Amino acid sequence: MHSDIEGILISQQRIAARIKELAAQITADHSPSKLDGGEITIVPIMTGAMIFTSDLIRQIPIAMKIGMMTVSSYPGKSVQSRGSQMLANQVGEITGRHVLVVDDILDSGGTIHMVVPALREMGAASVKSCVLLRKDRPTAHAVHVDYVGFEIPDKFVVGYGLDYNDYYRNLPDIVTLKEQVHAT
Ligand code: 5GP
Ligand code: MG
Repeated sequence: MHSDIEGILISQQRIAARIKELAAQITADHSPSKLDGGEITIVPIMTGAMIFTSDLIRQIPIAMKIGMMTVSSYPGKSVQSRGSQMLANQVGEITGRHVLVVDDILDSGGTIHMVVPALREMGAASVKSCVLLRKDRPTAHAVHVDYVGFEIPDKFVVGYGLDYNDYYRNLPDIVTLKEQVHAT
């Protein structure tokens, strides 16, 4: 697995430091006075956001529920978006709740563009979004997100939850792969 890595783009130390800042900002923005007595539901977009979400929410000391949504945009060995498709909705009851969608990366923008209105239609009082990474692409900048961890070049990355053909999610850093790995 490690021989497939071209280089580390964002180290686990940088990820951890940035998550601290994001969590502090999210905590301040969701203080009880700002929620008007409401509660929050965190919605990680599975499977990519799993590791990011678990690190992030343990630094947000606010009463919360977690509901999951599974969306597929890079099925199998794709390294380009095939369009976003909702595979499972386990968000639960969110009527009147303040929802924070968490995703690993903003690329074509298709996922956030589909998920945010869907959650509003399910009756959420508000819907905000947080992505760990945003690619330097016009489509990624055309979609509104409330919290962004890192701006990255338009490259295919894996690790820290992000996969290629479902592998590499367990790498602690965000890395790029050698060309021959995803050219096959
Ligand atoms: P979007 O819907 O904005 O095009 O992309 C969001 C989804 O596509 C992400 O949740 C992620 O699953 C997948 N994706 C986009 N770019 C990359 C990438 O560079 N690497 C990996 N592993 N997945 C990506
Ligand atoms: Mg995803």
